Amino acid sequence: MSPQPTTSLHRRGGQSAVVEVGPVRFGDGSYPVIAGPCSIESEEQVFETARIVAEAGAAMLRGGAFKPRTSPYSFQGLGAEGLRLLQEAGRRRGLPTVTEVLEPGQVELVASRVDMLQVGARSMQNFPLLRAVGRSHRPVLLKRGPAATIEEWLLAAEYVLAEGNQDVVLCERGIRTFGTETRYTLDISAVPVVKTLTHLPVIVDPSHATGRRDLIAPLGLAGRAAGADGMMVEVHPDPSSALSDGPQQLDAAGFRDLMERLGILAVRDDIDRIDREILGLMSRRLGYSVEIGLNKAARNMTLHSVQREAELLDALTTDAQRWSLDAGYIREVFGLILRHSRRAQRRALAESRLGGGRLIANS
Ligand code: PEP
Ligand code: MN
Repeated sequence: MSPQPTTSLHRRGGQSAVVEVGPVRFGDGSYPVIAGPCSIESEEQVFETARIVAEAGAAMLRGGAFKPRTSPYSFQGLGAEGLRLLQEAGRRRGLPTVTEVLEPGQVELVASRVDMLQVGARSMQNFPLLRAVGRSHRPVLLKRGPAATIEEWLLAAEYVLAEGNQDVVLCERGIRTFGTETRYTLDISAVPVVKTLTHLPVIVDPSHATGRRDLIAPLGLAGRAAGADGMMVEVHPDPSSALSDGPQQLDAAGFRDLMERLGILAVRDDIDRIDREILGLMSRRLGYSVEIGLNKAARNMTLHSVQREAELLDALTTDAQRWSLDAGYIREVFGLILRHSRRAQRRALAESRLGGGRLIANS
């Protein structure tokens, strides 16, 4: 029997959902990058990876603790200890975390350690698991099965939504094709297709799609051009020694390069520069305000003019509109600046009096 038409998945009046994981937002036009090792292997490895990805501007930290391996003899992950290490690494670097949950019985434990639950490609149609994550209160990252049609993928998402959890992010991670140059084939067309069919955000995972680190940047850029809401990438401090998926993990330099190509590092540099400029301007403003305060005191004028401050705040909030800045925000920021200026004026005055009023006499 063909599947029944979906209900909640269909686009709601053309609106796209924004799924929040802490401060990270999928679906708001930004392009958050989830980065981290394929498997959590040791404390040192996951802490070092967290440092690398946080410094280069990743939005979230990933890492597998319960690994779905093709062979039962391959490394299966550190399990509960891996979860603890991932949680600690994310906390230290201020990054929300995501990891795969393999069984319904693990959902509670995993949800207690990480911020987002991943349902892996091989589990996409594990219906009891989908229902279990649907009952959890964590956002879900739902990977597309390697042989799943888009409709099957969306119906899998429907299982999660039907249990009451609306926070699902889809992840296109490559499907099985006849090509052998790459591990799977990133179905880039799936990105705009799902966007016409659902309101859910969708990200791409070029690491698992290609199995090749040299293809991560071009396909990450392609994902963004196609309208994806972010990407996932595997990063390891020393990919040649990785216990799983070594060839598709970037090292520190590779990850920095990716973030530069996405423009994310450059943007962060710009923000850092602007913050330094703001600090410099605040310091200059404070200097002038102390000077005026001392001048006023020397002329026996009152330091604090309520009316002048009110006029200043009114003028600034009116101007703020020209810069598309929220009036309340500007009023709050300048209210603080004015309060600290008054405090600095009073302190300078007290010091000048202690010093025999020389400062006043000189000014
Ligand atoms: C993973 O992201 O750790 C993973 C195993 O990916 P996938 O389920 O896409 O193979
Ligand atoms: Mn992997």
